[in-house]
Amino acid sequence: MQASKRIENLLGGGSDGWDVFNKARAMIASGIPVTELTIGEHDIRTAAPILQEMHRSAIDGHTGYASIPGVAALRDAVAARVSTMTGVPTARENVMITPGGQSALFAAHIAACDPGDRALYLDPYYATYPGTLRGASAEPVRVETRAEDAFQPRAEDIAAHAEGAASLLINTPNNPTGVVYSKRTLEGIAQVCRDHDLWLISDEVYDSQVWEGEHLSPRALPGMAERTLVVGSMSKSHAMTGSRCGWVIGPADVIGHLINLGTHTTYGVPGFIQDAAVFALGQGPGFEAEIAEPFRRRRALAQKVLAAQNAVALVPSQGAMYLMLDVRSTGMSGEDFALALLEKHHIAVMPGESFGQAAAGHLRVAMTIEDRAFEGALRTLCAFAESLI
Ligand code: PLP
Repeated sequence: MQASKRIENLLGGGSDGWDVFNKARAMIASGIPVTELTIGEHDIRTAAPILQEMHRSAIDGHTGYASIPGVAALRDAVAARVSTMTGVPTARENVMITPGGQSALFAAHIAACDPGDRALYLDPYYATYPGTLRGASAEPVRVETRAEDAFQPRAEDIAAHAEGAASLLINTPNNPTGVVYSKRTLEGIAQVCRDHDLWLISDEVYDSQVWEGEHLSPRALPGMAERTLVVGSMSKSHAMTGSRCGWVIGPADVIGHLINLGTHTTYGVPGFIQDAAVFALGQGPGFEAEIAEPFRRRRALAQKVLAAQNAVALVPSQGAMYLMLDVRSTGMSGEDFALALLEKHHIAVMPGESFGQAAAGHLRVAMTIEDRAFEGALRTLCAFAESLI
């Protein structure tokens, strides 16, 4: 039997760009130690009090089918967080709880696009984006951002692809670049969405990790609340990646449709996870700042290391747990550089090319290991780049 074309073509037929990652994992499996700066996951685990609340809830019986849109307390807590952080009045009816941000991305595209609709996304991009759009039966349309603009998208580049499209997916603070979109960038994006009647799907899972300036949700811009679906998650802000708890924020009628989608797909998020998420959100912004602190610290360390050499340039990094390094001065592609670094120094970083063509000649470094080891690995990386020039 043949599987559907939709699922066979989910990855678009090309290489998935994860060769370096797979090689590093194979080295580790064969007993060779590798310093891994690849995966976007904290080096701490979910805090014990959150797990205790999860346990309490489960023992108290919250192990049956849970409310599909999310329990009222969690929808209210998410709505309150969004209202406070963005200034846009947000109520329970605007919130759908999903199994993580990834599932929210899929659901948002199902809500915004009919089969075959053009769905725009920006390159470089979070690795799952094109497959998610294909999975939702949309036609992914890539719009390149430029290294010379520090990967801030240009409104005119988006507008050039917008005719007849249904949606635009953006991500700020950005994975893989660490760039936070400026107010000017977001105003330009909002204008294109209004002019071309696009849904804006705004992936804000890194909204608690901003090192410079502030995170602006485009949903707060004039005329945007009615056409924006915000994707959020407990994964990054609360170190709860494995709990699979995220959300879509949007107009109440669309959230109603997403509840129907949930009924026919995920059937909701386990009640004990939702109760733990309510507890975690109740810890307030101070707790989120604590979770983000190691990345803030390591970014400062990296700025110091990079300022002391000339071979590797740092893309202005204002947020998220990543740095994007420009290694074009070595004349190597990001992929060749990353493979050579892995072979010679047993340090694994992601080639920019894993996230699209716009970041060719770059590397994504995840700041997800302990400070001293992180600083040491960066020094080695810079010395290696210098040795190639
Ligand atoms: N969006 C971006 C930009 C991400 O980097 C990630 C995870 O790395 C996700 C969404 C999905 O996160 P989760 O499904 O764990 O909420």
